[in-house]
Amino acid sequence: MIDDRAEKLRLIRDEILTLESSPLYEERIRNGVFPVIGEGDHFARIMLIGEAPGKNEAETGKPFCGASGKILDELLASAGVDRKSVYVTNIVKDRPPGNRDPSVTEIECYAPFLDRQIEIIQPSIIATLGRFSMDYIMRRYGLSHEVGPISKIHGREFMTEAMGYEMKVVPLYHPAVAVYDRSKLGELKKDFNQLSKYIA
Ligand code: URA
Repeated sequence: MIDDRAEKLRLIRDEILTLESSPLYEERIRNGVFPVIGEGDHFARIMLIGEAPGKNEAETGKPFCGASGKILDELLASAGVDRKSVYVTNIVKDRPPGNRDPSVTEIECYAPFLDRQIEIIQPSIIATLGRFSMDYIMRRYGLSHEVGPISKIHGREFMTEAMGYEMKVVPLYHPAVAVYDRSKLGELKKDFNQLSKYIA
Protein backbone atom coordinates (compact mmCIF):
# COMPACT_ATOMS: atom_id res chain seq x y z
CA MET A 1 0.00 0.00 0.00
CA ILE A 2 1.41 3.43 -0.93
CA ASP A 3 0.74 5.89 1.89
CA ASP A 4 0.28 9.61 1.48
CA ARG A 5 3.70 10.22 2.99
CA ALA A 6 5.33 7.96 0.40
CA GLU A 7 3.73 10.02 -2.38
CA LYS A 8 4.96 13.28 -0.89
CA LEU A 9 8.45 11.93 -0.29
CA ARG A 10 8.56 10.60 -3.86
CA LEU A 11 7.72 14.06 -5.14
CA ILE A 12 10.72 15.43 -3.21
CA ARG A 13 12.92 12.73 -4.76
CA ASP A 14 11.72 13.61 -8.25
CA GLU A 15 12.37 17.32 -7.69
CA ILE A 16 15.89 16.65 -6.44
CA LEU A 17 16.64 14.28 -9.33
CA THR A 18 16.03 17.15 -11.75
CA LEU A 19 17.44 19.96 -9.61
CA GLU A 20 19.56 21.61 -12.30
CA SER A 21 19.85 24.76 -10.18
CA SER A 22 21.93 22.88 -7.58
CA PRO A 23 25.64 23.73 -7.55
CA LEU A 24 26.26 19.95 -7.27
CA TYR A 25 23.96 18.84 -10.11
CA GLU A 26 26.52 18.86 -12.95
CA GLU A 27 29.08 17.03 -10.85
CA ARG A 28 26.48 14.33 -10.10
CA ILE A 29 25.64 13.88 -13.79
CA ARG A 30 29.31 13.93 -14.85
CA ASN A 31 30.16 11.20 -12.33
CA GLY A 32 27.05 9.13 -13.08
CA VAL A 33 26.13 9.00 -9.39
CA PHE A 34 22.91 9.58 -7.42
CA PRO A 35 21.46 12.04 -4.97
CA VAL A 36 20.75 10.57 -1.55
CA ILE A 37 17.22 11.49 -0.57
CA GLY A 38 16.67 9.52 2.63
CA GLU A 39 15.69 6.08 3.78
CA GLY A 40 13.62 4.45 6.48
CA ASP A 41 10.23 4.38 8.12
CA HIS A 42 7.94 7.17 6.88
CA PHE A 43 6.25 7.07 10.29
CA ALA A 44 9.50 7.04 12.28
CA ARG A 45 9.58 8.64 15.72
CA ILE A 46 13.32 9.18 15.35
CA MET A 47 14.82 11.08 12.44
CA LEU A 48 18.61 11.16 11.98
CA ILE A 49 20.09 13.98 9.94
CA GLY A 50 23.67 13.84 8.68
CA GLU A 51 25.70 16.19 6.56
CA ALA A 52 26.03 15.06 2.95
CA PRO A 53 26.58 11.82 1.04
CA GLY A 54 30.09 10.43 0.71
CA LYS A 55 31.42 8.31 -2.17
CA ASN A 56 29.61 5.07 -1.28
CA GLU A 57 26.36 6.89 -0.64
CA ALA A 58 26.47 8.75 -3.99
CA GLU A 59 27.22 5.48 -5.80
CA THR A 60 24.26 3.69 -4.24
CA GLY A 61 21.80 6.50 -3.44
CA LYS A 62 21.62 5.23 0.17
CA PRO A 63 22.51 7.28 3.25
CA PHE A 64 25.24 6.11 5.61
CA CYS A 65 26.22 2.94 3.77
CA GLY A 66 30.03 3.39 3.93
CA ALA A 67 32.49 3.55 6.83
CA SER A 68 30.42 6.11 8.80
CA GLY A 69 27.34 3.98 8.15
CA LYS A 70 29.01 0.95 9.78
CA ILE A 71 29.66 3.04 12.88
CA LEU A 72 26.11 4.41 12.78
CA ASP A 73 24.75 0.84 12.66
CA GLU A 74 26.91 -0.08 15.63
CA LEU A 75 25.74 2.97 17.61
CA LEU A 76 22.07 2.33 16.87
CA ALA A 77 22.43 -1.35 17.76
CA SER A 78 24.09 -0.47 21.06
CA ALA A 79 21.14 1.81 21.88
CA GLY A 80 18.72 -0.99 20.92
CA VAL A 81 17.34 1.01 17.99
CA ASP A 82 16.46 -0.89 14.82
CA ARG A 83 17.76 1.11 11.85
CA LYS A 84 14.64 0.18 9.87
CA SER A 85 12.48 1.95 12.45
CA VAL A 86 14.15 5.35 11.99
CA TYR A 87 14.36 7.73 9.03
CA VAL A 88 17.89 8.67 7.95
CA THR A 89 18.74 11.59 5.70
CA ASN A 90 21.21 14.47 5.24
CA ILE A 91 20.91 18.22 4.80
CA VAL A 92 22.78 18.23 1.49
CA LYS A 93 21.48 15.56 -0.88
CA ASP A 94 24.36 15.42 -3.37
CA ARG A 95 28.00 14.62 -2.68
CA PRO A 96 30.33 17.63 -2.36
CA PRO A 97 33.43 16.78 -4.44
CA GLY A 98 36.28 15.17 -2.50
CA ASN A 99 34.11 14.90 0.64
CA ARG A 100 34.72 18.54 1.47
CA ASP A 101 32.40 20.32 3.92
CA PRO A 102 29.12 21.48 2.38
CA SER A 103 29.07 25.18 1.48
CA VAL A 104 26.49 27.69 2.71
CA THR A 105 25.03 27.85 -0.81
CA GLU A 106 24.68 24.07 -0.95
CA ILE A 107 22.97 23.97 2.44
CA GLU A 108 20.61 26.75 1.36
CA CYS A 109 19.81 24.91 -1.85
CA TYR A 110 18.83 21.60 -0.21
CA ALA A 111 17.47 22.72 3.18
CA PRO A 112 13.92 23.36 1.89
CA PHE A 113 13.72 19.68 0.90
CA LEU A 114 14.84 18.63 4.37
CA ASP A 115 12.23 20.96 5.89
CA ARG A 116 9.55 19.24 3.82
CA GLN A 117 10.78 15.77 4.82
CA ILE A 118 10.53 16.77 8.48
CA GLU A 119 7.02 18.18 7.99
CA ILE A 120 5.91 14.94 6.32
CA ILE A 121 7.46 12.55 8.85
CA GLN A 122 6.73 14.64 11.96
CA PRO A 123 9.31 12.93 14.17
CA SER A 124 9.21 13.05 17.98
CA ILE A 125 12.94 13.51 17.99
CA ILE A 126 15.52 14.75 15.54
CA ALA A 127 19.06 13.59 16.20
CA THR A 128 21.52 15.70 14.26
CA LEU A 129 24.78 14.04 13.24
CA GLY A 130 27.61 16.55 13.19
CA ARG A 131 27.80 20.32 13.42
CA PHE A 132 26.24 21.26 10.06
CA SER A 133 22.89 19.63 10.70
CA MET A 134 23.04 20.67 14.39
CA ASP A 135 23.47 24.28 13.40
CA TYR A 136 20.78 24.24 10.74
CA ILE A 137 18.15 22.32 12.71
CA MET A 138 18.58 24.21 15.97
CA ARG A 139 18.27 27.58 14.24
CA ARG A 140 15.38 26.40 12.08
CA TYR A 141 13.36 25.22 15.08
CA GLY A 142 13.80 28.21 17.41
CA LEU A 143 16.83 26.99 19.33
CA SER A 144 19.38 29.57 18.08
CA HIS A 145 20.00 30.75 21.63
CA GLU A 146 21.09 27.22 22.61
CA VAL A 147 23.54 26.70 19.73
CA GLY A 148 27.11 26.21 20.92
CA PRO A 149 30.17 24.18 20.04
CA ILE A 150 29.17 20.55 19.46
CA SER A 151 31.79 19.55 22.05
CA LYS A 152 29.66 21.38 24.65
CA ILE A 153 26.12 20.45 23.69
CA HIS A 154 26.38 16.93 22.24
CA GLY A 155 24.01 14.46 23.85
CA ARG A 156 21.77 17.14 25.38
CA GLU A 157 18.03 17.22 24.66
CA PHE A 158 16.39 20.44 23.51
CA MET A 159 12.63 20.80 23.34
CA THR A 160 10.94 22.87 20.66
CA GLU A 161 7.32 23.55 19.81
CA ALA A 162 8.17 25.19 16.50
CA MET A 163 6.54 22.30 14.62
CA GLY A 164 3.23 22.88 16.45
CA TYR A 165 3.86 19.90 18.73
CA GLU A 166 6.58 19.00 21.24
CA MET A 167 9.64 17.81 19.41
CA LYS A 168 13.11 17.11 20.81
CA VAL A 169 16.38 17.93 19.12
CA VAL A 170 19.47 16.03 20.24
CA PRO A 171 22.81 17.07 18.73
CA LEU A 172 25.09 14.08 18.33
CA TYR A 173 28.65 13.79 17.08
CA HIS A 174 28.95 12.63 13.50
CA PRO A 175 29.71 8.86 13.41
CA ALA A 176 32.79 9.63 11.24
CA VAL A 177 34.44 10.86 14.44
CA ALA A 178 34.85 7.22 15.47
CA VAL A 179 36.06 6.20 12.01
CA TYR A 180 39.10 8.41 12.57
CA ASP A 181 39.41 7.82 16.32
CA ARG A 182 37.99 4.54 17.60
CA SER A 183 38.53 5.64 21.22
CA LYS A 184 35.60 8.07 20.80
CA LEU A 185 33.16 5.20 20.35
CA GLY A 186 32.30 4.98 24.07
CA GLU A 187 31.28 8.63 24.23
CA LEU A 188 29.21 8.30 21.06
CA LYS A 189 27.46 5.21 22.43
CA LYS A 190 26.58 7.08 25.62
CA ASP A 191 24.99 9.91 23.60
CA PHE A 192 23.17 7.55 21.25
CA ASN A 193 21.65 5.82 24.26
CA GLN A 194 19.33 8.84 24.55
CA LEU A 195 17.51 7.46 21.53
CA SER A 196 16.44 4.28 23.32
CA LYS A 197 13.72 6.31 25.09
CA TYR A 198 11.99 6.94 21.79
CA ILE A 199 11.65 3.37 20.60
CA ALA A 200 7.94 2.83 20.03
N1 URA B 1 28.16 11.19 6.08
C1 URA B 1 26.98 11.85 6.12
O1 URA B 1 26.87 12.90 6.74
N2 URA B 1 25.95 11.31 5.48
C2 URA B 1 26.01 10.16 4.81
O2 URA B 1 25.01 9.73 4.25
C3 URA B 1 27.24 9.49 4.80
C4 URA B 1 28.31 10.02 5.43
